[in-house]
Amino acid sequence: MARREPSLTTERFTTSQLLEIDACTRCGECLNWCPVLEEIEEETFTPEGREGMTDKQKMDFSPKNKLTGMREMLNKGYGLRAKLFGPRQIPEDDVLKLKDEIYHCTTCGICSTVCEASINTVEIWESFRRNAVMHKRGPYGKQTGFVDLLASHNVFAADQEDRLCWVPEDIEIKDKADVAYFTGCTAAFRMQRVGVATTRVLQALDIPFTMLGPEEWCCVSVLIRTGQLELAEEFVNHNVNAMIDKGVKTVIYACAGCHRTSRIDWPKFYEGGDLPFEILAISEYMDRLLDDGTLSESDFDWKNPLKKRVTFHDSCHTGRHCGVYDAPRRIYDMVPGAEFVEMARTRELQRCCGAGGGIKAGVSDLALKMAQKRVQDAELVNADIITCTCPFCRRNIMDGINAMDTNIIFKDQQEILAEAMGLDLTLPDNPYIDKQM
Ligand code: SF4
Ligand code: SF4
Repeated sequence: MARREPSLTTERFTTSQLLEIDACTRCGECLNWCPVLEEIEEETFTPEGREGMTDKQKMDFSPKNKLTGMREMLNKGYGLRAKLFGPRQIPEDDVLKLKDEIYHCTTCGICSTVCEASINTVEIWESFRRNAVMHKRGPYGKQTGFVDLLASHNVFAADQEDRLCWVPEDIEIKDKADVAYFTGCTAAFRMQRVGVATTRVLQALDIPFTMLGPEEWCCVSVLIRTGQLELAEEFVNHNVNAMIDKGVKTVIYACAGCHRTSRIDWPKFYEGGDLPFEILAISEYMDRLLDDGTLSESDFDWKNPLKKRVTFHDSCHTGRHCGVYDAPRRIYDMVPGAEFVEMARTRELQRCCGAGGGIKAGVSDLALKMAQKRVQDAELVNADIITCTCPFCRRNIMDGINAMDTNIIFKDQQEILAEAMGLDLTLPDNPYIDKQM
């Protein structure tokens, strides 16, 4: 008789992840920090079909219980008893319940940061999602549409030929350059003001740069975060080879999602191994130029003091995932008139805004609640402006602001720089003007 397959297989998990799943000491520290669990416990958000949950059922959304659930299921499939008598079957509904819980996660990474056993939880959640997609249990909700959208090579099913339609005529894009600005789908089609600000600042600072234009394909963050890998290799290799053709040595990003994906995920899919160029957040790049003397503060030629109280939201992707905290703060510190203030939860212990991990598409109510919580953090320090280095956080935080009665406004870091430098942020007429967020 054919031996039964375990209900939850180890496919897509690495050996060290399987050990890490076993290493959870159940200390419970992560329960104090998980922003999703916080919303579920406070009942500001109830997962679909889970009304009237007991405290114990709510706890199943915690990092601790998700790891425990995985460990128990894997033991039933691969433990000693399973070796002797065959895997014990787990009702499919139980596996689907765990799957739903793991898709209610923004992959913010704070559970990993505070974990006393140093478990890389984000990688484990993503491996579980990859396994779920393999077995046709995932992805979740509207995340299923990502692969079809990417037939256009961007997440908005827009015409790739329009990739640079937002660039003002007087901005010079070099054919080849040491530095490339990877714009990302969101800034190219839905938040063009961020793209215009970034290119204006680069030009004003005399930093020559190139862009890939129609050859810039989606960074595939949306696929990798949600466990859908089928297009990842093709897209990553296309983007890397397009950068090589342009002679690029450094790729800079004003989008935290693209930055994280390029820096941490692309090397896993690039057929040549290590990337043949470096990946930097734009603030890191400016920080370096200021350090080595290529740039000085006077080069910013400030025109308009900001005269506002500003607080910075570290995006999970550039902050906790890539460890970039000081460089963006150095940029804000330079802006004349900006009174910079930190929220209570900042840097490594920042509170996720709720946009990432496919939650904005998959569980949009949850994303909105989390954004409002982050705006409340900014209100508590009397900020006039909440700022970030991520168009995706920008979209979610602005949705949060719009759903609240608050005077706080959102501005991207590059927008703040460009305005303080007196640069023109007018968008050229283009087919996406009415779709701007
Ligand atoms: S990554 Fe963030 S949202 Fe996901 S389980 Fe950990 S703390 Fe919760
Ligand atoms: S903090 Fe780490 S070890 Fe403690 S319960 Fe959470 S995942 Fe387990």
